[in-house]
Amino acid sequence: MTHAIDGLAGELRGQFPLLSRKLGDDPLVFLDNASTTPKPRAVIDAVVAYYERSTANVHRGVHTLGEEASQLYDDARREIASLIGATPGEIVLVRGTTEAINFVANAMKLGDEDEVVFPASEHHANWIPWRIHGKPVPMPIDDDGVPRWESLDGLITSKTKLVSIGHVSNVTGAIAPVEEVVRIAHAKGVPVLLDAAQSISHLPIDVAKLGVDFLAASSHKAFGPSGVGILYGKKDFLSKCPLYQVGGGMVSLNEDIGVGGFTPRDVPFKFEAGTPAIEATIGFGEAVRWMRRVGMARIREHDVAMSRYLIDGLRAIDGVRVLAADLPLERRIALATFVVDAPAMTQENVARALCDMFGVCVSAGFHCTHVLHARAKLSGTVRASPHVFNTTAEIDRLLEGVREIAG
Ligand code: PLP
Repeated sequence: MTHAIDGLAGELRGQFPLLSRKLGDDPLVFLDNASTTPKPRAVIDAVVAYYERSTANVHRGVHTLGEEASQLYDDARREIASLIGATPGEIVLVRGTTEAINFVANAMKLGDEDEVVFPASEHHANWIPWRIHGKPVPMPIDDDGVPRWESLDGLITSKTKLVSIGHVSNVTGAIAPVEEVVRIAHAKGVPVLLDAAQSISHLPIDVAKLGVDFLAASSHKAFGPSGVGILYGKKDFLSKCPLYQVGGGMVSLNEDIGVGGFTPRDVPFKFEAGTPAIEATIGFGEAVRWMRRVGMARIREHDVAMSRYLIDGLRAIDGVRVLAADLPLERRIALATFVVDAPAMTQENVARALCDMFGVCVSAGFHCTHVLHARAKLSGTVRASPHVFNTTAEIDRLLEGVREIAG
């Protein structure tokens, strides 16, 4: 098991400049990938190369640099689309998962009685939009924040307009039974949105196989730069969506007042007004190439072995409660959210101490899931989220820190 983890991690670690950093005398142990991932050298180089060699706007400049920038940008869109089995025309480039979900929420023009069903454990990005668009119908969750999927069928009524689910929970690491959800929702004529923020860099994804109608994801959680993400939608849906931002780049003709109107470009460009996040998108494309070179199957192999090592290690410590610790490995990614029973310390204090005393970076607080924490009666948690470059020695360092703090 350790071999599966450390073999791949050892091969890849040197590609991440961030990982050579020290915090005080401690080597950095980066276990906060669910917030954002470090970037491999290939991604950094791609962004720098755009700045140093090909800085120009895209789809505008009729000069060599403009052509190069446009080529890099269009190649990136193709690469990103193919990661999830989509075509470039089915991908709208947005700022990230949050904007992608808001795009769908706006486009559906939901009335006050139009219901959206989603697990109560969802990240705010897939909770708050349904507070202001349509009527939220949160699916029950268990005491550890895992959705009670068996309740889905009964929650879908004639008023349901959308089922919106996270592919992987950013708190429990639980993988949703997407194909089953799609089967149930589609049998009742209801489309499904998949929030792939936490899954895109951990699991192989094929939108056709999963059958989802929409998918939202962010580059920065998948080894790419921040500021760009994707909304996948079937072309017939996207063509019917109202314009939500207008301006340059999205229009093919604007006639003078009294002469005519304006004609938007085709999908997806009609939704991409203004200068896009060019270098971030080029970096995202490179991140996808990087993940492909590593291989999504190998990433998943590391993930499964790491899940076991991390969860077993944490749950063996007295005074530590790990959420959803009993979830089978095939239904989770390597992510552990836990509570350390350390008198007079909040979970934020625990995370700060892990960083200050052990060089271990983790998240603490509510992880944008207030409802999950309220229902689980938790006033905060600590989250360790390793990725493919993390080693067992780094998990041992986390465990050493938690043991000392809990003790
Ligand atoms: N959905 C999930 C499950 C997340 O974990 C996050 C970010 O943590 C988001 C959505 C929002 O992603 P972004 O902030 O990149 O829009």
